[in-house]
Amino acid sequence: IVLSLALYSAPPHSSQPPVSTGYSAAPQASYTQAPPPVSSAPTQPPPPSGPAAPQQYYSGPPPPSQQPFNSSLPPTSQQQQQFTSSVPPHPPPQQTLPPSSYSGPVPTQSQPPVPPVSQAQQSFPTPQPPFSSAPPPVSQSSFATGPPPSAPGSFPPQGPPPSSQPGSFPPPGPPLTSAPSCQYPGPMPPQQQPPPSQPSPYHSGHHPPRPQMPPTSMAQSNHLPPGPQGPAGPPGPLQQPPSQPGMQTGYPPQQNGAFGQVRGPQPGYSGPYPGQPNYGAPAPAPPAQKRLDPDAIPSPIQVIEDDKAKTTEPFTTGVRGQAPPLVTTNFQVQDQGNASPRFIRCTAYNMPCTADMAKQSQVPLAAVIKPLATLPPDEAPPLVVDHGESGPIRCNRCKAYMCPYMQFIEGGRRFQCGFCSCVTEVPPHYFQHLDHTGKRVDCYDRPELSLGSYEFLATVDYCKNNKLPPPPAFIFLIDVSYNAVKSGMVNIVCQELKTLLDCLPRYSSTHLNDEKYCQIWCLRFEVRAKASGVFYITSYRRTPQALKQEVFLSLAVSLAADCAGKLFVFHTSLPIAEAPGKLKNREDKKLIGTDKEKSLFQPQVGFYSSLAKECVAQGCCVDLFLFPNQYVDVATLAVVPVSTGGSVYKYTYFQAQSDQERFLNDLRRDVQKLVGFDAVMRVRTSTGIRATDFFGSFYMSNTTDVELAGLDCDKAITVEFKHDDKLSEETGALMQCAVLYTSCSGQRRLRVHNMAVNCCSQLADLYRNCETDTIINYFSKYAFRGVLSNPTKAVRETLVNQCAQILACYRKNCASPSSAGQLILPECMKLLPVYLNCVLKSDVLLPGADVSLDDRAYLRQLISCMDVAESHVFFYPRLLPVMKLESGSLPVAVRDSEERLSKGGVYLLETGLHLFLWVGASVQQELLLNIFGTPSFSQIDSNTSLPVLDNPISQALRELIYSFRAQRSRYMKLMVVKQEDRAELIFRHFLVEDKSASGGASYVDFLCHMHKEIRQLLS
Ligand SMILES: [Zn+2]
Repeated sequence: IVLSLALYSAPPHSSQPPVSTGYSAAPQASYTQAPPPVSSAPTQPPPPSGPAAPQQYYSGPPPPSQQPFNSSLPPTSQQQQQFTSSVPPHPPPQQTLPPSSYSGPVPTQSQPPVPPVSQAQQSFPTPQPPFSSAPPPVSQSSFATGPPPSAPGSFPPQGPPPSSQPGSFPPPGPPLTSAPSCQYPGPMPPQQQPPPSQPSPYHSGHHPPRPQMPPTSMAQSNHLPPGPQGPAGPPGPLQQPPSQPGMQTGYPPQQNGAFGQVRGPQPGYSGPYPGQPNYGAPAPAPPAQKRLDPDAIPSPIQVIEDDKAKTTEPFTTGVRGQAPPLVTTNFQVQDQGNASPRFIRCTAYNMPCTADMAKQSQVPLAAVIKPLATLPPDEAPPLVVDHGESGPIRCNRCKAYMCPYMQFIEGGRRFQCGFCSCVTEVPPHYFQHLDHTGKRVDCYDRPELSLGSYEFLATVDYCKNNKLPPPPAFIFLIDVSYNAVKSGMVNIVCQELKTLLDCLPRYSSTHLNDEKYCQIWCLRFEVRAKASGVFYITSYRRTPQALKQEVFLSLAVSLAADCAGKLFVFHTSLPIAEAPGKLKNREDKKLIGTDKEKSLFQPQVGFYSSLAKECVAQGCCVDLFLFPNQYVDVATLAVVPVSTGGSVYKYTYFQAQSDQERFLNDLRRDVQKLVGFDAVMRVRTSTGIRATDFFGSFYMSNTTDVELAGLDCDKAITVEFKHDDKLSEETGALMQCAVLYTSCSGQRRLRVHNMAVNCCSQLADLYRNCETDTIINYFSKYAFRGVLSNPTKAVRETLVNQCAQILACYRKNCASPSSAGQLILPECMKLLPVYLNCVLKSDVLLPGADVSLDDRAYLRQLISCMDVAESHVFFYPRLLPVMKLESGSLPVAVRDSEERLSKGGVYLLETGLHLFLWVGASVQQELLLNIFGTPSFSQIDSNTSLPVLDNPISQALRELIYSFRAQRSRYMKLMVVKQEDRAELIFRHFLVEDKSASGGASYVDFLCHMHKEIRQLLS
């Protein structure tokens, strides 16, 4: 503790501007070399290099580069040792923010001006140091053992009982602290705020078909007469176009707008809260004019750019516990013994040794695993290993598969398991001699001894009924009800089927021609459209709804007969016919925000769960393509795809003309993508931790086996770990994810991913090696599952509370003592507040009035299987200034806030699901001509695709859009949004640093709120 305090003891501001210096200005040895934890260095001599030394297993093929992870102490860490009682050589890896409006002593006054931060700081009137008497941090133990200050549902704990204001955040009540200047904005009941006609961003159409308003796209709204309410206005008034970033002096211009504006006293919001300890200070200075400068708080763009800048070499996985570059950085990976971050990303690459430490820090210990992830062309897919008829070599006790963590002993005749320490005989056919370091001489010839990821060929022992599976079948089930035919969906699907035949996955394998094994059946119910080359099983003439439910069942059963496969269901409406699986319309907006809201996310009948179970047993994966014009109960129908590892696609108000492109791209991609069937995933861990919870699209009939009727290359599973014993710094923590599956060619395979992380006995080491993007992935899945059984408000509170505890623990145990008025964030978690706020204000947790229950259920399941890159861009969209676009290079993104948009600019915003092109009202004619082929702003058609023009800007923009689409698993339809058009409301929903229409806080306000929470925990 002393050491970690000393390391942090330099006033951060003295050597590091509070903001935006990031990694590049303060390179940390641990980022590039992952030295052992500093604090443990003196007591952890390099292990002997005998056969027992674990480090040999982490080394990569080129011997010189084999840097055993803990056998050599990088000189830097030695140096750090010497500085324990003085100023550290490096700035501490933490972010100190300028005092927010509580500001205590401003410690940066004597520092050279660092624009724009210092400007901002100086523009705050500095009150007397109210917190100078802040108590020093108390001991860790008292913090750790104390119960969380605010239990879920009691936020704020001392406040009056939360009222029933739906969607408000936080619940009304007195402020938590006595600093009104940084007041968390009051709740904004969503029903008052959003314009009634605001289209949902998740609809492909704007409204149900109406004569005067073809529901082709929400983008059309700007061609239409304003709705009954007249020009729609967001809750915040339409603002003056903000000035451009970088031109701000003093107060950012948006402070004159609605964001975070200090408002008049509200009941319950004025005055310090009586029960709130105020650090012995008088009530803070008047609130007027005091507000955080957005430029002075951690910028996601800065962090992203800094990481790009410092990533100059391929990421090699041979060093245990090394955090990879961020998901937003392009980098190459070399597998040297641990799984690539494309397969596994962890929340922490240095796990606490004990459960007590983990509990104290509240940092979730989780891994996001994407077992069949697609690799870029320059990275080799996992090699296939064949151990012969007896199958893969495994540990006798825990059944872990042969991997680099197994240690060969007794001259190579036996091996000791890295997971359970059990010693197993090496079968004669697998025997090999060891070299002088104890390593098998064939180590680098065998992927399972030297790589993090590889595949075993499985034997019949790994097959159902002990026989090799037949190749999977693909079955298309098409709803041909009136709406389905009228929308054009049926026709499109039938015409596409022939093309899809050619798209079906084919893999090089022992089978010469897989196509003949992939039969397509199309179930046709009274449909006129024909698709040649398709084999029709049968045709039905009955009401489609009843039919669908029965057919679903019978199909699953018939599939079960002999082979696994994939069922594509194209469906339009709520199944209301008298048949098994009948549903009723239960969408009730009045329940939103109440304790009963959770029931809306639960399936309303058990039929689909049992159907799903049956599908899983057969290895039948179900993909659901929905084309609803009204409520279809996604929460219930999606149970089948979600439990079978399938996907849900939703095209609300589908119209052939405008939505065909998106639908067909999704369908083709879905049919073609790499998929495994009848899969079982098991995560094994070394002694001390175990996998306790799983998030994703799958089914579990026990606590360890994740059953996936289908597992495709886009699906990720988040796994949470808990301690069941102590971990050791020396051996670290190991995990092995093994997925047994049937490939499209009918081969039974086992894909194995291995991952080792460090373990620490000092909290500071944990906080140095976290990955916020992965933490957010975990939190979002955790929260979105939480709404099934808790009021959304309680879920939000739990999230806020846990993050406050994470940051308070850092502040208490790792940061240097400083004024309580300062918010100090760990360097690698400085974006936790902004990203967490995005989760809190997402449509699932805080829906706007226009967001349907189906939209929310749809998003819930979508996020549940996202990887880290997808969840990152989903919660914090990418916003690029198109006017700075040059072919071959990507312009630096701008932050997701209206004030960052220039009226004279054009911006592309991408979320992974949506793609917007925002056009400022004063864009130069030349730019318009280059992009749209027209010099006139008013003539831009919001609903057409971009014209193909022969100029560099047009080309670069179209290439950019193409590359965005190629990166995402779902096709993003481009929507052009003109400034001050009605459609801009949809766009603004994604400017996540701003206050949202549904009452979600702005980044600035949320950060202040978070700061209050932290201070309350520390007091
Ligand atoms: Zn074992």
